[in-house]
Amino acid sequence: MSDDAAFHRAADQLIAAGRFLFERGWVPATSGNFSARLPGDRIALTVSGRHKGRLSRDDILIADMAGNSLDARKPSAETPLHVSLYARLPHANVILHPHTVESTVLSRVSGERIAFQSYELLKAFPGIKTHETTLNVPIFPNDQDTQRLARTVDGYMHQHPRIPAYLIREHGFYTWGEDIDAVLRHVEALQFLLTCELELRKIGR
Ligand SMILES: [Zn+2]
Repeated sequence: MSDDAAFHRAADQLIAAGRFLFERGWVPATSGNFSARLPGDRIALTVSGRHKGRLSRDDILIADMAGNSLDARKPSAETPLHVSLYARLPHANVILHPHTVESTVLSRVSGERIAFQSYELLKAFPGIKTHETTLNVPIFPNDQDTQRLARTVDGYMHQHPRIPAYLIREHGFYTWGEDIDAVLRHVEALQFLLTCELELRKIGR
């Protein structure tokens, strides 16, 4: 596949993902950002401030693995979080970052992690074969210094390389996968699990 074809394929997948997430209320008001690994140590990345439900190819830029835009457009302020994940996880090829109500609310009222226990849908995540397990998803404090936040996340992932996602407090979550289908499955599964936990709290459990 040529470089152009690889970019167009990745951009079109991110555009479709943006529509899917926006329709569910998971990327309101231009929030969130998406990326995909490209051949030649580059990534496709959403341009800062664009509406994620109405993306076009013009809203996706190409950056190097240090997060520097390779054209004149400005990458998302959260670019360091994307490039550090790609550096840490060779099998991660797509990253989605929604800002959902459930992740925002639950991260506000939880400690340093949320433990998802005994849910059948845990099997949506790689390496989980049974409901008889607990998935600990960490919550990091929000930080406008995203280089510093990326270092915090990377330090955690050095110790816990198998986590499929993390939350940022009062902000949203990041998840990743080997391709667009895998990462969308992780978004949907995490949203389901977060919604279950929120519903449990509503009924006092
Ligand atoms: Zn964000």
